[in-house]
Amino acid sequence: MQIKVGKLKVFNSLTRQKEDFQPLTPPFVGMYVCGPTVYSNVHLGNVRTFLSFDVINRYLRYIGYKVRYVRNITDVGHLSDTGEDKISKKAKLDQLEPMEIVQMYSNDFHHVMSQFNTIPPDIEPSAIGHLMEQIEMTRKLIENGYAYESNGSVYFDVGKYNKAHKYGILSGRNIEDLMSDTRDLDGGADKRNSLDFALWKRADPDHIMRWKTEWSDGFPGWHLECSVMSTKYLGEAFDIHGGGMDLKFPHHECEIAQNVGTYGKSGANYWLHTNMLTVNGQKMSKSLGNSFLPHELISGNHELLDRGYSPMTIRFFILQSHYASTLDFSNVALEAARRGYVRLSNGMRLIEKMKWKEDEGKLDERQSEQINKFCENCYHAMNDDFNTALTIGHLFNMVKKINSLHTRQLKFGEIGQEAFNRMKDTFLGFSRDVLGLKVEADVNYQSLINTILGEYKDAKYNRDFKRVDKLRAELKAEGIVAKDMKDKIEWAFEE
Ligand code: AMP
Ligand code: ZN
Repeated sequence: MQIKVGKLKVFNSLTRQKEDFQPLTPPFVGMYVCGPTVYSNVHLGNVRTFLSFDVINRYLRYIGYKVRYVRNITDVGHLSDTGEDKISKKAKLDQLEPMEIVQMYSNDFHHVMSQFNTIPPDIEPSAIGHLMEQIEMTRKLIENGYAYESNGSVYFDVGKYNKAHKYGILSGRNIEDLMSDTRDLDGGADKRNSLDFALWKRADPDHIMRWKTEWSDGFPGWHLECSVMSTKYLGEAFDIHGGGMDLKFPHHECEIAQNVGTYGKSGANYWLHTNMLTVNGQKMSKSLGNSFLPHELISGNHELLDRGYSPMTIRFFILQSHYASTLDFSNVALEAARRGYVRLSNGMRLIEKMKWKEDEGKLDERQSEQINKFCENCYHAMNDDFNTALTIGHLFNMVKKINSLHTRQLKFGEIGQEAFNRMKDTFLGFSRDVLGLKVEADVNYQSLINTILGEYKDAKYNRDFKRVDKLRAELKAEGIVAKDMKDKIEWAFEE
């Protein structure tokens, strides 16, 4: 099977591996995704990126690949707009230990990821957990002539690297243009060239996160961790490296330079970038103040929201567009997604219980061919650079058939047992296992119980004791007891 990945390339075989690398059972895929910097709650934009890679992971597994999915946690080294380490800055602000900040926001991240039904990565390494390896890579880069020490910090020498290799291949930028528009946050005067980036930073006296090395008391540069952790767990050449579009430059460009400078190989064969979730055309970001937190969206507790949306509706909303297209956030789009998801999940509920049975229908080849086509199309869509938007369209075609079978407008005999079973497997496989959608009861139990208790009260008032007993028994079967008080009826869970 061939899968088109990213813009150009075709992915059809095994990954290569480092000699000392623990081999997986072929055919296997190594996938590394840049994880969050854990200094704040993840917003919906971040969720979009991690959900997109969740579906890629799910699909590869679904079609039989053994995937080793590595997604890191950035707990040191990512600098803010003011040039301070993001974790350090937040720890000072909140008067907490940096590790408390890391723990708090890692917990939030994991909670959100499980709310949206994502599969956890196989390895979730952290930058601090790989300090030794980062120091080692820095030494190796100095040894190979691609890095230099200056005033206790170590910088990657982009100019020198660019003479031997090309810096900027991923983003298609050229080094002269880059030099004129690069903002300098990590140590201006100490560098030979404004594009040089820090591998190791000397810590200022009030910087709380610091480790001793031969260069200084300091901390690693952000780009280094991903080179170290991806190659440590996936080998020097692996399959897929992902992240949001905003990481393409400079983060991934620097990773490639570090990898080539250390191993002579660029790391991943395919670099996938998810496009941005936008609000009124502007990237959703914490610093722009236009971000939504998942819990605000779920509860509807936000001034820009008409109502709350369930996690599966939000998941569906995100998957309705291809990962490489921008996706604009709006009440109208969410409401449309809500209706779409309900239709799809009704289809899931129906077909889960449906079994093929002999009926009066006569086999109609056109019907079975159509169903086979819908099933194949799901694979074609996902094989074409993981097109979830098209896949959902094909699943909706199946929902029409499922509904017709349910209302008996379409007979089981007309489509035949083979096509029915294939549709059932494919429909459930793609909606549940690949897209990660699950039937979610968006029901307010309290009001449902009150409705039944209202009926119970009416039956009592009308002295219809048969009905009273029946309602009481039905509630009891669900673990609920109706309590007849003097002037009202209450309920409690059965003890
Ligand atoms: P961060 O925690 O800032 O490192 O971001 C974690 C991931 O979310 C990165 O892959 C970012 O590229 C991605 N990301 C940030 N903002 C957005 C957005 N508005 N839409 C999609 N992905 C985003
Ligand atoms: Zn990264």
